[in-house]
Amino acid sequence: MKALFSMKRYISRNWKLWCCGIFLPAFFSTATNIYFAGRLQNYVMMLTQPRTSFQDIVRILLLSLPVLLLLSWIDNAGLCVFSLFLASTENDLRNDFYKSLVQAPLKNLQKFSQGQLLTRYNTDIEQSAQIVSYDIFGVIYPLVVGTGYTAAVLLADLRIGFLMFLLGAVVILLNFLFMRRIKRIRLEILQAKESCTSNCSDAIKGKMSIRQYSAQNRMYNKIEEAAEQLYRKEYSAVRLETWKLLTSDAAANVCIYLLTPLACVMASRGYLSVAVVLFIHQLCRCFIMYTQNFAVAFIRYGEHSLSLERICPIMSLKSELTERDDNKCEKVPENFDVTFENVCAAYGSHQVLNHVSFTVSPGECIGIIGESGSGKSTLIKALMQLTDYQGNILIGGENCKNISLHLLRKYISCSPEHNDIFSTTVYDNIRYGNLNATESEIYSAAEMAGLPAYREDFFRRNIGENGDQLSGGQRQRVSLARALLRDVPVYIFDEPTAALDADSESKILNTISKLKQEGKCILLITHKASTLHITDRILRVEDGNVCQL
Ligand code: ADP
Ligand code: MG
Repeated sequence: MKALFSMKRYISRNWKLWCCGIFLPAFFSTATNIYFAGRLQNYVMMLTQPRTSFQDIVRILLLSLPVLLLLSWIDNAGLCVFSLFLASTENDLRNDFYKSLVQAPLKNLQKFSQGQLLTRYNTDIEQSAQIVSYDIFGVIYPLVVGTGYTAAVLLADLRIGFLMFLLGAVVILLNFLFMRRIKRIRLEILQAKESCTSNCSDAIKGKMSIRQYSAQNRMYNKIEEAAEQLYRKEYSAVRLETWKLLTSDAAANVCIYLLTPLACVMASRGYLSVAVVLFIHQLCRCFIMYTQNFAVAFIRYGEHSLSLERICPIMSLKSELTERDDNKCEKVPENFDVTFENVCAAYGSHQVLNHVSFTVSPGECIGIIGESGSGKSTLIKALMQLTDYQGNILIGGENCKNISLHLLRKYISCSPEHNDIFSTTVYDNIRYGNLNATESEIYSAAEMAGLPAYREDFFRRNIGENGDQLSGGQRQRVSLARALLRDVPVYIFDEPTAALDADSESKILNTISKLKQEGKCILLITHKASTLHITDRILRVEDGNVCQL
């Protein structure tokens, strides 16, 4: 029920499609089948009358055909509307999921593995959309159809109608007994799928290393193990499904074989006419079929609500913007100095920064050095509000925690250590830095980052996933150009020249010196002694503390 409530808003977004898709097919399918069974009864009655001519039969046939066709068309039109509703719900769900994914605070998102995110995006959303479509349809449709058939058969013969109803109830009950176990196995299957996806994603990312270190076998074993696990779970599911077929589905079939002979016996004793037997047979067959569907709808609902439970933790991640931006300061300071006051940061129990304090003034470039893993990048993440910290970080005298994220990130431009390159052209990759930038601004940023300017082909061709078709140094310069495209008071460069040759390095250092002269605050994280000469001060991060050299 909880799942139904949380999906209610998807129905209300498209309630007209939903109503048409859910109710039209049910009503018109019942009408078609009852009408058809009625016609059948007429034909048989005519057969038993000696004076029926061939023309009589053709006349009834021609008269009833348009009605039958019309009913069947409306029934099918309803089904088409239903498919539309399903598609639009799935689409809405996908959009909402995606929105949460790109707007959630980084630290919350990092709790999920690639496999978990991808399996949920690919599989669970599709399954969840079925709660408000197939599952509700699966209950309402047999309910309407079943009520119609039961009423019709009860009217034709009270005893057979009652027996049919009773057998239907048994079939439903048997299916319910399987519900819990099927749901549990489905959960295990989904988890095994996540593990498969994670392993596969690892192999794709490490495609180069795997070859270089001849690690194919190791990766293959890992993936095979995960696939084996998935197979075992699927095998259990099939076994359970078989048991269900052998019990409840068999019971449903037996019903049909019991009711018709019973009606025949009653006809032979003169309680029913042969025509009514045919009418009852036709409707009983449909009734049992839909009873099975009714029971299956409940089982499917169990499975689908499981998928919804799995996407909810991601869909309910609050957007980092709305989470922070209510009642936040929108006043732009005049002077952009950056001050760290007793900043402490930890990942779980691992304390990375310990009461770090320092200030960077406008027009100043500070170099931040320290061993790998000493916490330099964490310092930057704290300033960008990408990780939790205690203490205060001030920009222009205002506490960062009181500045809206939207504004704060307008003050800072950062070229991170691990640059994110998107699967598009170099030109577009740079343009992400400032979507309002003109073409000449983009080329000038590229030039400042030491990229060969005006080689049109280089800028306009697609560079593949993760920028695979660029060299490490090119990727780094694209990321730098993106950061330089923005005109902001604070620049952060995390190891900007780590992958660069001496020429490119000196070009970038020149650019940074120019920014300094323009009065920007610059934080330059570096390993290279050759870059330190442009800095005004050097801070060393060691054991979570910062000391000035
Ligand atoms: P640096 O940039 O100085 O090389 P980082 O700031 O990236 O170091 O990392 C500092 C320490 O924090 C390292 O020991 C690293 O293992 C740990 N660390 C970094 N990011 C995470 C994270 N997301 N979760 C847990 N630990 C992390
Ligand atoms: Mg780092």
